[in-house]
Amino acid sequence: MTDPRDAADPLRAMRARFRLPRQADGTPCIYLCGNSLGAQPVAAGERIRDILDDWAELAVLGHHHGPRQWMPYHEQFAAPLARLVGAKPAEVVAMNTLTVNLHLLLVSFYRPTPARSRILCERGAFPSDRYALVTQARFHGYSPEATLIEVDARPDTGLLATEDVLAAIEREGARIALVLLPGVQYLTGQVLDMARITAAARHHGCMIGWDLAHAIGNVPLSLHDWGADFAVWCSYKYLCGGPGAVAGAFVHERHAQARELPRFGGWWGHNKSTRFEMGPDFEPIAGAEGWQLSNPPVLALAPLLAALDCYAAAGMHAVREKSLAQGQYARELLAARLKSRVRCLTPEAPAERGCQLSLRVEGDAEHGRRVFADLKRLGVIGDWREPNVIRVAAHPLYNTYAEVAQFVECLAQAVNQS
Ligand SMILES: *Cc1c(COP(=O)(O)O)cnc(C)c1O
Repeated sequence: MTDPRDAADPLRAMRARFRLPRQADGTPCIYLCGNSLGAQPVAAGERIRDILDDWAELAVLGHHHGPRQWMPYHEQFAAPLARLVGAKPAEVVAMNTLTVNLHLLLVSFYRPTPARSRILCERGAFPSDRYALVTQARFHGYSPEATLIEVDARPDTGLLATEDVLAAIEREGARIALVLLPGVQYLTGQVLDMARITAAARHHGCMIGWDLAHAIGNVPLSLHDWGADFAVWCSYKYLCGGPGAVAGAFVHERHAQARELPRFGGWWGHNKSTRFEMGPDFEPIAGAEGWQLSNPPVLALAPLLAALDCYAAAGMHAVREKSLAQGQYARELLAARLKSRVRCLTPEAPAERGCQLSLRVEGDAEHGRRVFADLKRLGVIGDWREPNVIRVAAHPLYNTYAEVAQFVECLAQAVNQS
């Protein structure tokens, strides 16, 4: 199937830079699961091989010799990640995994006092985030019930209303120590108004952090200008860094010199010029690197390099343009083919959506599950989220418009069969 939109797509050459899964008979799957695990960049294997070769040929000398020395290896990620999140390189570090980074930054930025102990978040947050918040509250001796303020989605749309978040900050601001929200909500694909919410939180003297798991590599971000205190993300979703890829963190530069900030220290966060003097006193690096603990897992970082090269070649602006166009195309086809049978939970306004479409098949959840199983048989890889949501995301770096159209055809077939 060809589609004239693909011939006109300025990113059409990027697809060849990815390896996509195939069905048992060898035909390519329609891989629409970048919201969960981005496809493998072709160059990922080579980047890992480079490190294995250096290890074999240089062993410990690999830390300081050769073109890819491991000592400063993680530093090369700061600039490309900073471009994607709208930050300065010193505000960004590639390290650990998302939930680990969230805890480490909560140590610094959730500092409850009896008068200001509360945490504003969303009800129905991604479980790991909620577990982190609940256990942090307990760690500080506060009961989660008396600490969390969970903003509800509107019952009619299932979406968070910016006004509701702002109203809660307005009402409870003086008692809120921390606001933690997702840039893009994982279940609905809704993009939150990060600029306004950040401004409101800061106006009320609350710390504000963003979980960008579903936002990085998906929608444009301006963390520095918005003024967020911190942010965390993982690298295996849209970023295509590979399963369990090394995640990232942002700390605004106004906290860079704040050496008195409480934090959990480790030697990789210590002043680089004196690290190997092996002294007893911890002196954190100014900036996000000061939150590192251990020497980085170079093998796990390597594939992310290949992925960030793809983003650099494409440019986030072009990625976003194509994402909006593919989303619009999918909506038009869905409306034409499945109008009354499938409901799209993701907002339609461009500012409120990224790559993901969250679809609810009308009927009971059992019917939805059957439709999802049929889709899978037809070669579509998306994912199912309880209680009844099919999530699909066309990734602008490797999905074609033809695949978007094929997906809608498969969905129509599945809905009619099930
Ligand atoms: C995917 C995702 C995570 C994943 O956490 P890990 O620590 O990488 O396992 C966390 N939060 C949100 C909102 C996510 O979507």
